[in-house]
Amino acid sequence: MPNENCLEGMRCPKCGSYGPFDIYANCTFRVDDYGAEQSGDVAWDDDSRCWCYDCQHGGDVKGFGGNTIGYMVHFEDEEADDG
Ligand SMILES: [Zn+2]
Repeated sequence: MPNENCLEGMRCPKCGSYGPFDIYANCTFRVDDYGAEQSGDVAWDDDSRCWCYDCQHGGDVKGFGGNTIGYMVHFEDEEADDG
């Protein structure tokens, strides 16, 4: 099923998978002496490294067809079930 949210337009150019993908993104963490927690959004652009979870194909986001320039994902629900 085509992606319509975070990965809108993205698809693996090798195996055709719609994800999930591993994307090398930028994120800000709030760090104190006890550890770190995410304090900002996750952002990547079309040159960010991206790997297909299914076939391990690696490339950049634009190579996966993403219309994701400057895209940011904000995690509202940190209790999300991972499956
Ligand atoms: Zn793939």
